[in-house]
Amino acid sequence: MAYQISDDCISCGACAGGCPVGAISEGDGKYVIDADTCIDCGACAETCPVGAPAQA
Ligand code: SF4
Ligand code: SF4
Repeated sequence: MAYQISDDCISCGACAGGCPVGAISEGDGKYVIDADTCIDCGACAETCPVGAPAQA
């Protein structure tokens, strides 16, 4: 189980700097989470202004 970023993402980048394991990177039209790296801490979900990251 890893967090995933939905299409609601507006590519603000706020979540990427707050991820403790560097699992978030800019993708095509939205940011993406590397499921193998994510440790399910939930920080991105708390940071995101549009609630795009959610547990898969
Ligand atoms: Fe990074 Fe935590 Fe979000 Fe996973 S849940 S992508 S580890 S901030
Ligand atoms: Fe996208 Fe939310 Fe991350 Fe901003 S904080 S890049 S809107 S997932």
